[in-house]
Amino acid sequence: MELIKPPLHPDRFPDELPYGYLKRLAELNQYESPAWLFRNLSSPSALQTSALSVAELSAADWAGNQPTASAVGANTQHLRYCPLCIAERGYWRSAWQSWVSCACTKHQIWLVDRCPSCHSRLPLASTNLSHCACGARLAEAPVEIIDSPVEQMQIFLDEGDVPDGVYSILPKEHGLDYSARTALISLLCNWLDYPKLTVHNFNHELKQCGTARIHLVNAAELLFQPEGLDTFLFRLSQRDSPEYYTSLILKFVLRLNIDFPQPCFDTLKHQALSYWVHLRKALDQEQGRSSEIADLWEYAEWQVLPHDPK
Ligand SMILES: [Zn+2]
Ligand SMILES: [Zn+2]
Repeated sequence: MELIKPPLHPDRFPDELPYGYLKRLAELNQYESPAWLFRNLSSPSALQTSALSVAELSAADWAGNQPTASAVGANTQHLRYCPLCIAERGYWRSAWQSWVSCACTKHQIWLVDRCPSCHSRLPLASTNLSHCACGARLAEAPVEIIDSPVEQMQIFLDEGDVPDGVYSILPKEHGLDYSARTALISLLCNWLDYPKLTVHNFNHELKQCGTARIHLVNAAELLFQPEGLDTFLFRLSQRDSPEYYTSLILKFVLRLNIDFPQPCFDTLKHQALSYWVHLRKALDQEQGRSSEIADLWEYAEWQVLPHDPK
């Protein structure tokens, strides 16, 4: 399989989705499909896997080679986009396709994943760069403004930055790479609804913008809003019996410890444990049991922190 240099071949933008670049080349050269750009193509759907497109693009020295880390491990079936970016820039950004990407920080609006006219989802293969298959312009999708925590979380995801003067439960120098940032947001989106200790547990509601929002707002508030963690743990505690929900808070910290042992999570874990200790103390009092704060701390830490089995 080989990418053939087409007559018109502008450079790829640094943040452009590799498959989106192939679409742009095809449209510019009036090819019916990006498959026309290849010799010996195994199947047209193979192009949508980001790894393959990246490999082929890297081999083409005329394509303006660009790093593509943020294109990997994401939605390869349907387009997610910012209508204002489409109108202004005319290309698809890699960052949109992450499952935990929900906002455009340039325009401070929610991303969308449906046609503004026929409301169907937009398969990458059958959607033109700026039009739905039904003919509607993607740029005409209604625009909805995001709140500050959602904006901060998107900046954190895209660039790794915690801006000055912004509240965050993570320190500025967190040192988390793109995949760790993605995994963290994914875990937070998942935990409130499907708290499980299993690895690779994924909240399938993240796959569509409409159902993803509530989960992304929860995660954003936890990370970037004062008292956000308390709100998150309070919501967690609104389930089932007190015994069950207090155990969920400890399991949450345990899950964090397993996936995120880095010191930058210490504050988050400590605050969650503190929340549990005081909740447990109040419950004990309510049920006529006496308990000491110090004993509760010891119990909580023994439950969630690594230790040698005795
Ligand atoms: Zn935008
Ligand atoms: Zn449409």
